[in-house]
Amino acid sequence: VPLQPAEAVVVGAGLAGAAAAASLARRGWRVRVLDGAAAPAAGASALPAGLMAPHYSADDNLLSRLARQGIGITLGQASSLLPEGADWAPCGVLQRRSRLVRTAMGPEDGTRPATPAQLAAAGLPPDAPALWHDRAAWIRPGALVHAWLRQPGVSFQGASAVERIARTAGGWSLTGPGGRALGEAALVVVAAAFGSRAWLEDGVDLRPVRGQVAYGRLAGLAPLAPFPINGQGHLLPRVPLDGEPCWLTGSTYGHDDADAAPRAADRQANLERLAELLPAAAAAVAPQFQAGQARDWSGVRCVSRDRRPIVGELQPGLWITAAMGSRGLSFAALCAEVLAARIHGDALPLDAELAAAIDLARFRPA
Ligand SMILES: Cc1cc2nc3c(=O)[nH]c(=O)nc-3n(C[C@H](O)[C@H](O)[C@H](O)COP(=O)(O)OP(=O)(O)OC[C@H]3O[C@@H](n4cnc5c(N)ncnc54)[C@H](O)[C@@H]3O)c2cc1C
Repeated sequence: VPLQPAEAVVVGAGLAGAAAAASLARRGWRVRVLDGAAAPAAGASALPAGLMAPHYSADDNLLSRLARQGIGITLGQASSLLPEGADWAPCGVLQRRSRLVRTAMGPEDGTRPATPAQLAAAGLPPDAPALWHDRAAWIRPGALVHAWLRQPGVSFQGASAVERIARTAGGWSLTGPGGRALGEAALVVVAAAFGSRAWLEDGVDLRPVRGQVAYGRLAGLAPLAPFPINGQGHLLPRVPLDGEPCWLTGSTYGHDDADAAPRAADRQANLERLAELLPAAAAAVAPQFQAGQARDWSGVRCVSRDRRPIVGELQPGLWITAAMGSRGLSFAALCAEVLAARIHGDALPLDAELAAAIDLARFRPA
């Protein structure tokens, strides 16, 4: 039976939680978003800037189709909520590949072989295998989180780590350390990334994947590339960070590593990865690494066993949206819309196969 909009609480103020809050608020819920940190976007969503780009696979697999669907929703949200150029830009991306197989996507997806002019503009040889994706953007995740939290009906409450979620007559009550009461709500959505484990049943694993990016000032450098490039790693050639134009490159992958502290070895790994992806850009920024001017940001991704996000009802009125992996920008808004549509019994924004592919139920015994 679909719930009637009332008070809801979302646990976790990253991309997943903020998106869920906004989707519920659009349907009339009054949503309080709690986070253990003092300010929103304190976890992986504190990433200074990220890339949202289609996931190309020769057979157009589930992840590719999910990402495509999600990108459409995030592009719509970003264009209505964020100032272009400051917090995001729908700039397209050039994707380097080891070889070019026939693309399974049609032109309507905005994906096609890169043109000689695009390759030349990126400083790549004319025979370099590469795709061009129109439907790609860089986005500052924290800006999107803040924008979602500013939507009418949404409020944020920091310094409110949730330890316990217990059933009450009318829904759920939440408590923090020392039994501090954090409120009651008819509907609770757990969007706490790795911190969601406490409320998951056996058989649904969440794993940490640590990652680090490097970034630095563009001042004094020749332009690195006219658009973002990805492949094994990525380069955002121009994003405003810390109040000035910067380049940003990444990312490292530390599987089963939940340590969010920056590491010198990862900084070096980021420079080496860039040297493979775009040698001229790596040569241009290398002096900043040598002079100790390259800055680091590191965080911890949360992934499920099959790398797809998890959306579902843990118990009646207690929902989860988590495991955004390396693609929170592609998946958070999609998962939020699926979650809200399922709660309301509305039509889903994706087909039944894709809905099943992110459903919590896939991990439950048949
Ligand atoms: C190095 C790196 C590079 C990346 N690059 C990209 C990229 O280019 N493009 C892209 O799309 N994605 C990228 N990602 C992934 C992206 O950052 C994540 O997918 C996304 O931020 C996850 O959002 P989330 O809301 O699920 O988790 P988080 O942002 O981690 O939010 C979870 C929140 O829950 C809170 N919390 C946890 N437990 C509790 C509790 N018990 N009570 C209250 N609050 C709690 C935490 O404080 C945190 O704020 C990258 C990640 C890393 C690490």
